[in-house]
Amino acid sequence: MAEVLSKPRTSVEKYRLKKLIEELERKTGRGTELISLYIPPGRPISDVIAALREEHGTAANIKSKQTRKNVQDALESIMQRLKYFKKAPETGLIVFCGAIPRAGPGTEKIECYMIVPPEPVSFYLYRCDSKFYLEPLKEMIREKETYGIIVIDRNEATVALLKGKNIEIVKTLTSGIPGKHEKGGQSQRRFARIIEQLAHEFYKRVGEHANKAFLEFGENLKGVIIGGPGPTKEDFAKGDYLDYRLKRKVLGLVDIGYTGEEGVFELMWKAQDLISESRYAEERRLMQKFLYLLAKNPEMVTYGINEVLQALKHGAAGLILISEEIGKAYVIARCKACKLKIEKIVDEKVIAREEPLKCPKCGGILEIVEAKTLVDYIAEKAEKTGAKVEVLSTATVEGNQLLNVFGGLAAILRFKMSLR
Ligand SMILES: [Zn+2]
Repeated sequence: MAEVLSKPRTSVEKYRLKKLIEELERKTGRGTELISLYIPPGRPISDVIAALREEHGTAANIKSKQTRKNVQDALESIMQRLKYFKKAPETGLIVFCGAIPRAGPGTEKIECYMIVPPEPVSFYLYRCDSKFYLEPLKEMIREKETYGIIVIDRNEATVALLKGKNIEIVKTLTSGIPGKHEKGGQSQRRFARIIEQLAHEFYKRVGEHANKAFLEFGENLKGVIIGGPGPTKEDFAKGDYLDYRLKRKVLGLVDIGYTGEEGVFELMWKAQDLISESRYAEERRLMQKFLYLLAKNPEMVTYGINEVLQALKHGAAGLILISEEIGKAYVIARCKACKLKIEKIVDEKVIAREEPLKCPKCGGILEIVEAKTLVDYIAEKAEKTGAKVEVLSTATVEGNQLLNVFGGLAAILRFKMSLR
């Protein structure tokens, strides 16, 4: 059965996909013979196979005998694997396949990777090159959190979206509210009422545009930020102009000097703290929970690679926090001389550089039989005992502490264990 990397949902699955992309980036073919195939969702696989059969025919014209064979072998391998599908999955399917050299010429082996991406593939693409074409997939996994931005004063309002680092202006509206008039008595009061009515209508229009633009992002909208030079932003935020689901997401009101597009940029700079706080709030919350217990109830936590692995083994780990920068791998290795078999946690670099591991018994060279990232190893163990695993970035102070103070691995326990 073809092995397929399913659509990533958890932090562990996202980490796995990231790692696989890094690995694929390092692979190079001997010639123009690595195939990248992007299939949009719902596309009948019979159509795709027909197209690949045609490519197989075209490949017969390739001059280099070795390249021709490698391309045709890869195509056959893909067609073989695609037979398990009727149509492309919910977000489509991405296939990387080709002959990867092991050492010198003639040592190539066909490798095939099938990935259900986190976001829908929007185009059909077949490419044959000396490298895999990874950019569209990399773009999908890039953090693209979206924030709603409203810059408002009495005269003008701009609704915008902040996506990753890009600003998209949705709409700029003007109020048409006349300036202050020097009139007295009765007519001034009437005038003030009209102005209030006009302002209300203006806020309503701004709210409608913001609701329409922001709500379609659902859970992916991380927050709303409202800015402006005067008190108008408070009036707008307090009133019932924004949908209640958006009101809950307002991260803050920010004083700025400008309106319009200039105001949007000013707000983006001034609101950096609000934005980064919300982006990493979940990671910080997890780590703070650990730190709190460490201070109040230290028997309920543990940290360090050996300690957490022990806790896992005893079924005591409830929540495991692991740094995505931990850079460790789990290997099973066998001694070529005395056949001793060992399990070991090593630096990821050791595997990448294929540095020889020495046998603790006879000093002979250990051959790596099996290797996986420490994250994968822990995720597998955790699944068996029902522990939850969260992979944390180093973008926050807390994430840095996890890596540098606690060895990149910490756990909150289900029951007390005296491990240290
Ligand atoms: Zn040995």
